[in-house]
Amino acid sequence: MPELPEVETYRRFLDELVIEETITVFEVKDAHVLAADEAVLRAALVGRTVVQTSRLGKNCFLHLDDGRVLVLHFGMTGDVGAYRDEADAPRFTRVALHLGSGLRIAFVDPRKFGRIRLAESVGAYQEAKKLGPDALDITTEQLGAALGRRKTLLKPLLLDQRLTAGLGNWIVDEVLFQAKIHPERVAGTLTETEIKRLHSAIQLVLRTAIQHEANYRNFPASFLIHAREWDDSATPGTDKHRFCPVHPGTEIEKTYVGGRATYTCPVCQPRG
Ligand SMILES: [Zn+2]
Repeated sequence: MPELPEVETYRRFLDELVIEETITVFEVKDAHVLAADEAVLRAALVGRTVVQTSRLGKNCFLHLDDGRVLVLHFGMTGDVGAYRDEADAPRFTRVALHLGSGLRIAFVDPRKFGRIRLAESVGAYQEAKKLGPDALDITTEQLGAALGRRKTLLKPLLLDQRLTAGLGNWIVDEVLFQAKIHPERVAGTLTETEIKRLHSAIQLVLRTAIQHEANYRNFPASFLIHAREWDDSATPGTDKHRFCPVHPGTEIEKTYVGGRATYTCPVCQPRG
């Protein structure tokens, strides 16, 4: 599923290709991914120039020269591509934006859970969807205020996009492992030091994932994700990936928190 690091990677790809380009054709191969009327979208897009790209959580925005934004949400299997000739259109291209340069931008989505819509602005979309600040932008103070006095479990709260946008299941597990905090801690019991650690871990995990363009096999061996995927690529030919990278004798545990598969090190992350 495209999480924040994938979507940031898509945004950077698009940014290289679409800035100052005019949309000449809005081609719909499968209207299932449209969350707005096709004719309305076409009228809003054709002839417009893209002036900027941005991202909030798992949403990517193409800013148009009239101030409105095209919102791309990638669902379960969404991706982007670029091509020049119809014969080269990626498989499962659902929508294509033809640009003045002759390049075509593909919205690719095998399972069709992705959505394309128009919004008056990023702020208007954020408010309508009740999204919190982006997980890369949230400050320690904002995080502390959002968690303080809450009697709910920490992990489900961090997954709540109203608190901060862009933290998915594996990311929260990695963040809590790096911060050495148990996912079933009551949010309001975190100390100031723990909130600082949590904030630093969010930055570390997201920046590392973006740096590696979300190819988790390339993540450092100090990351828990290798245990999650039972993936030995960081420590090839061994079963080290099943054990805590800090405590080589301790096996990573799998449990369920709020119905979601959750991986923890019982030594690094005491229940408290
Ligand atoms: Zn450990």
